[in-house]
Amino acid sequence: MNVPVRAGSFASPFRPEHDLLRRTIRTFVEREVAPHVDDWEDAGRIPRSFWRRMGELGLLGLDFPPEYGGGGGDLLSSVVLGEEMARCRSGGVAFSVLVHTDMSSPWLVRFGTDAQKRKYLPSIVAGETVCALGITEPGAGSDMAGITMRAERRGDCYLLTGSKTFITNGVYGDLYFVAARTGAGTATRRHDGISMFLAERGLPGFEVSAKLDKMGMRASDTATLSFHESPVPAANLLGIEGRGFQQLAAGLERERLLAAVLALSGATQALEDTVRYLKERSAFGEPLAERQALRHRIADLATEIEAARALVYHAAELFADGAECATPVSMAKLFATEVANRVAYHAVQLHGDDGYMREFPVERFFRDVRLWTIASGTSEIMREIIARRVLGPGS
Ligand SMILES: Cc1cc2nc3c(=O)[nH]c(=O)nc-3n(C[C@H](O)[C@H](O)[C@H](O)COP(=O)(O)OP(=O)(O)OC[C@H]3O[C@@H](n4cnc5c(N)ncnc54)[C@H](O)[C@@H]3O)c2cc1C
Repeated sequence: MNVPVRAGSFASPFRPEHDLLRRTIRTFVEREVAPHVDDWEDAGRIPRSFWRRMGELGLLGLDFPPEYGGGGGDLLSSVVLGEEMARCRSGGVAFSVLVHTDMSSPWLVRFGTDAQKRKYLPSIVAGETVCALGITEPGAGSDMAGITMRAERRGDCYLLTGSKTFITNGVYGDLYFVAARTGAGTATRRHDGISMFLAERGLPGFEVSAKLDKMGMRASDTATLSFHESPVPAANLLGIEGRGFQQLAAGLERERLLAAVLALSGATQALEDTVRYLKERSAFGEPLAERQALRHRIADLATEIEAARALVYHAAELFADGAECATPVSMAKLFATEVANRVAYHAVQLHGDDGYMREFPVERFFRDVRLWTIASGTSEIMREIIARRVLGPGS
């Protein structure tokens, strides 16, 4: 079926190599992922064989340097990956993959030493090592500077003590990108004294203290992790000691952009599913797709999706060009994730009773997409970033 909302859309940012990549991922998703997602949703995890297969296909380091096994591509390759993974109709599978490829491991590429990259990147790209990002704590989510996990230098190790929660890939992952305090901040510079570490699974004093039970994204595993004097080699300090917050801030735009891509791609699918449903189902003697009220609803949703897509592609191009893009990314994340939630609401409504049933993909999308105005920076935090730019810092 054609993707109706793309008809007559603005210029695509993608080049022929992205189109080729898209075809590869689409075939993989249709043949090897979509048939299994119901099982993975039920199991609350993705099998190891899936990660290795993605590695074989070269999909787990699309823009990483070739000398470490990466594809040497650009950020738009990740946009393609996000768009196509979301077509498997399990937000959890797509989310797990993007946490690995775009929300954690890029910090290693950007801030890692050559020795760290040689040690970890090849197995990350091969799908042998699954990555997770550990920032959020029970007492610190939006307020990243409020983290309290400690990292105390002891000889040639740092001892990690504290707890992380809501960590995607946290239960079954292998390598955790963890933020911890190596020093205290000050009242005016609370973000000082945070450092990033590469913590391998299985450290002494480390445990997965809970596998969290979620509303949606059920194929992705989510953990609470606890560390008690867990020794991380000093060689696994990522970047500069005490500058972790600044390093994290430099990568959050990528995470937020890809969150917007996942939400938007899911919304595009949900709209396609809804259009098909309205054409196939009749009531009062004619297909529902003939009812003007419903046609206008579809028109509104398609328009909102296209507007969101324009913002997302614009922000992605800025990011790919290395331009300053905090505000455009925040606008894209805010708008796309809120549009996607509106699409989910109406997609279920337009499916009637069927929309409430597990066998219809819009039911899962409705649960999955609720995450996206919360995780990777809430809508309120996106508004704060935008407002600061529009109104100035002191207002
Ligand atoms: C399924 C799932 C997966 C996740 N995966 C990860 C992961 O892999 N790694 C990781 O580190 N984290 C992860 N998170 C955490 C996620 O990024 C945080 O949930 C998010 O940052 C929100 O934090 P919080 O829940 O502490 O909200 P809080 O900060 O407690 O906010 C609560 C409410 O107050 C609002 N609020 C907070 N501050 C302000 C303000 N200054 N102005 C206006 N409103 C404000 C928020 O917008 C929100 O509505 C995940 C979360 C979920 C649910």
